[in-house]
Amino acid sequence: MKSEPDVDAVVVGAGFGGMYMMHLLQQHGLTAQGIERGSDVGGTWYWNRYPGCQCDVESMEYSYQFSDELQQKWDWSKRYAGQPEILRYANHVADEFNLRDNFLFDACVNAANYDDANELWSVSTDTGTTVNARYLIMATGCLSATNTPDFPGMADFAGDTYHTGNWPHDGVDFSGKKVAVIGTGSSGIQAIPPIAQQAGELTVFQRTAAYTVPAQNKPLDDKTQNEIKANYAEFRAMGRMSPVAFGATFSFNPMSVFDATPEERKANFEEFWNFGGFSFLASYGDLSATVEGNEFACEFVRDKIREIVKDPETAELLCPQGVIGCKRLCSDNGYYETFNQPNVHLVDVSTHPIDRLTVNGIETNGVEYEFDAIVFATGYDALTGSLLRCNITGANGLKLEDKWSAGPTNFLGLMTTGFPNMFTMTGPGSPSALANLITGIEQHAEFITQLIQWSQSQGYQCIEAEQGAEDSWVETVNTRAAKTLYPTCNSWYLGANVPGKPRVFMPYVGFPEYSEKLKTVVAEDYAEMRFG
Ligand code: NAP
Repeated sequence: MKSEPDVDAVVVGAGFGGMYMMHLLQQHGLTAQGIERGSDVGGTWYWNRYPGCQCDVESMEYSYQFSDELQQKWDWSKRYAGQPEILRYANHVADEFNLRDNFLFDACVNAANYDDANELWSVSTDTGTTVNARYLIMATGCLSATNTPDFPGMADFAGDTYHTGNWPHDGVDFSGKKVAVIGTGSSGIQAIPPIAQQAGELTVFQRTAAYTVPAQNKPLDDKTQNEIKANYAEFRAMGRMSPVAFGATFSFNPMSVFDATPEERKANFEEFWNFGGFSFLASYGDLSATVEGNEFACEFVRDKIREIVKDPETAELLCPQGVIGCKRLCSDNGYYETFNQPNVHLVDVSTHPIDRLTVNGIETNGVEYEFDAIVFATGYDALTGSLLRCNITGANGLKLEDKWSAGPTNFLGLMTTGFPNMFTMTGPGSPSALANLITGIEQHAEFITQLIQWSQSQGYQCIEAEQGAEDSWVETVNTRAAKTLYPTCNSWYLGANVPGKPRVFMPYVGFPEYSEKLKTVVAEDYAEMRFG
């Protein structure tokens, strides 16, 4: 006689993914226990409280679309919402849909084991709780396991240290202090201007200069907001048709970059630069198709940097090399201008890496820099980190870390063979962070709920992807990536930012094609999965 589960499903994470998953399970009469390591909902937006933190997808798109009442009721104050506003929105959703009751907060999953005999998942936490469930749904986020480089002497530094992805809730007062920021990705680029405003001296340690385009953030006026709300369904549909599941707020220029004269190109780039943010990559239809075409945009940005940054040496160091859009394009609020402040200094660690942390600060290239505080804006063990940190063991004792030792393999980015009834939301193998994450989250939560319901309606208790389906999906993900310029740089999409991590391009490129694939899988009654 097999044991009965405590609940139908365990949902790990109370960010936007876990919240919507919980809502759908509740709505469909499935019992669920949520587990969240933070003290409340919000996920990324709960942890990332660093100064300047703001979303790079416009507010009207970076929000749930499952409830028209919700999207009509909520008003956004800015074109791009800042972290406090997004966290307020997450809390509003939790209140409206009563999502907190089934979550256990301040509890971190430290093991999830599949019990072969009973076909159940046993999920335990660092607070001593264990829950047995039929389904395990990992809504742990793709950028939530922070990455702090293991510099020699880390423990020696006598000042304060912070990571942008785990910022103190009460904020930090840098007034008059000597501060270092290590890292110039999206987080560093956002945090540097406000820290520079407050700190006595700010020194930025840059290993790779990143491309950033001004966000051109501004208040969201009532007229714009009301117009979108009046046609929200069409607006959302437009977003879902875009390769990145957002873009209804800006236009894609289908022209070839090669068909424009140098003057036309400059004027067009200028227009997209002034419009701001991510849309810059939509300035030409084939901007991301060839290195040669892409270089036109790179040079435009470099010229902007040379124009903005007064010290020519600093300007050259800030000029990025390589393909624009290969790493996630950053968007900023006055990043390059910050380097004109007399209290801001740039240290290039591309050729001479940071050697060590000392009692007083940071040592590189034979020079010791003294600091009161060091901010690590050094990113994440993206996509796989938050899953592997949960110590997941599937059927027949197979450990996820062993199965994925050469890189993550799965079917649709949702299920990995050998781990029955386990689902990963917005993980590797799905569009994930290459697309509007909230749209991806809704898509995954709806697919998982429908799949569970279908399986139950057929009298099955067990769902698993066929090995052949997984193999062919991995090939599809790789083939799509190989046709792009993405694999040409050392990005976190490839795991290249974490020493020792397998170099595999993890996200699926192309949201609309992915959506079509999911629809086909449903229409074919999940033929590439086995049920038992
Ligand atoms: P990131 O893009 O991975 O940037 C990390 C930075 O730390 C890079 O400049 C990296 O240099 C540097 N770094 C890492 N290890 C280092 C070392 N040992 N020595 C010196 N420098 C080192 O991380 P992130 O900025 O947190 O952003 C991650 C992702 O989160 C973004 O791409 C984006 O998708 C998301 N995000 C979005 C927003 C937004 O919506 N606006 C804001 C923040 C984050 P290298 O480049 O040389 O590796």
